[in-house]
Amino acid sequence: MLTNVQPNAQPKSRLRWSSNLPKPGSGDVPYAKSRPELKGFSEAQITRHILDSAAWKEVVKPILAQLDKERARPGKEQPLYTSEELESVLLYQRVCGYGSFKRARNALAGDRNEARQLLGFDKPRNLKRRVVKLFDGVPSEATVSRHRARIGERRRLAAYLALEQRLLKEHLALPELQEEARILNLDGTKIQTHYTAPIIDRTSGRTVNDARVTAPEAGYVPHSAGVDKSGHGWNLVSITSITGIPLAWKVVPLNASEKDVAIELLRDEFSSRVKPHLQGDKLSVLSADGAFNKQELRAELRCLGIVENIHLVSHGDAPESQANAAKNSAKRIRIQGYKNWFTNGHRELICVCGVGTTIKRLGLDRNGKAVVRTEGSCKKCGSITITSGDWRRSQNPDNWVRLNPQNPNEKPDLLMGNPLTFNDGIAAEYGRRRFGHHEGFHGALVSRFGLIKDKRWFRRLDEAKIATAMTFCVMHVVALEQRRRRVEAEADKAQAPPALAA
Ligand SMILES: [Zn+2]
Repeated sequence: MLTNVQPNAQPKSRLRWSSNLPKPGSGDVPYAKSRPELKGFSEAQITRHILDSAAWKEVVKPILAQLDKERARPGKEQPLYTSEELESVLLYQRVCGYGSFKRARNALAGDRNEARQLLGFDKPRNLKRRVVKLFDGVPSEATVSRHRARIGERRRLAAYLALEQRLLKEHLALPELQEEARILNLDGTKIQTHYTAPIIDRTSGRTVNDARVTAPEAGYVPHSAGVDKSGHGWNLVSITSITGIPLAWKVVPLNASEKDVAIELLRDEFSSRVKPHLQGDKLSVLSADGAFNKQELRAELRCLGIVENIHLVSHGDAPESQANAAKNSAKRIRIQGYKNWFTNGHRELICVCGVGTTIKRLGLDRNGKAVVRTEGSCKKCGSITITSGDWRRSQNPDNWVRLNPQNPNEKPDLLMGNPLTFNDGIAAEYGRRRFGHHEGFHGALVSRFGLIKDKRWFRRLDEAKIATAMTFCVMHVVALEQRRRRVEAEADKAQAPPALAA
């Protein structure tokens, strides 16, 4: 292990960044436990922090207060716990990433000094009992289970979705996140269930396992789709900032088309809840793997002022992927009107002599739509400008031709002219960051919040959605707190006398 390397040092970049392209900063995840500002910010403290937040008081508290009103019976004793107290245990469970309430309850009972005090469960409620036991003061499984039944899944989901939206808005008000959100990642990740989804026969369209289905709202994908995509459950399709902040998401049956879900996500959630808060005059970049290669999705992104970094061919190490990439690199496709220039299968411009270079021309037009262009130049072969959206691939002979503006049936190949290509260094840098970010956002979902990877006991779609919304609430709250503490620490440092500041 290298010990003399600065932990946050970045390799010196020799890449030439077009001035309009967002540069990835450190990309550090603000809610990561390793953040120095978050040292000692325990799960119980995080839970308390959420309960004390303005967002919770505005959005969730009134719903729980209403529930208490519905519970009240004239002439009967007050219940031992308020609905907010009962909900706080479920929130604590999610903050800890525990799959079962039992684990959360054990953790609470075992943490007399902090968790129980912070959440107000440090005193026995049922005073008729004579012997004080370990679990006294902590609501029982049955009590919490009755609370869940009382509030109902639909109402709980609505509460957490509203809370998440409220927190996202608060978070997006920070110029810091607005800048981070110029580099986006789009991903699909499965939420597996122990239950059985309907298995639908492709040819007949019929469910073949009717009698065994225990999770009718889940989807099933066969093993042939590969380890990442197959199983029973749901797919969490999300758009996140380079710093791992969830901006827009949908949970859908595992067998739903990822590409189509992504298009809906952009049209609905992203357009209405995220886009209005971003810097409208700046171009963004979105990276995704080849599973999201679809012209309609590219077009949708361009309309939102985003240039896509999505390739036709997988960057994986598998022999098939490598062979496919090599085949596309070797291919030469003619371009109508330019006898000295070709593209390869990745739509990368290449001149006849091979010495020519290309530059990226990226920006926004007056309507905020992404303008995407590649220019090539060579002393011998002359110059070329390809504007993405103006070209389509024609067969017999196989070549690139200009779109006929009179013919609305002609559709462009939007990869043609997009300089963020398979072999491009800047595109690769964004892609590399996508994998780095996986360790942040993805890693947190796996190991800290226990939402993905292992199977969950989710029977219904709403259960998966509630867990996702709650998790994202936690990410926002912790990230906001980290940013606040950092600003505070910097201000303290600036005010301190020079000797102390050093
Ligand atoms: Zn040349």
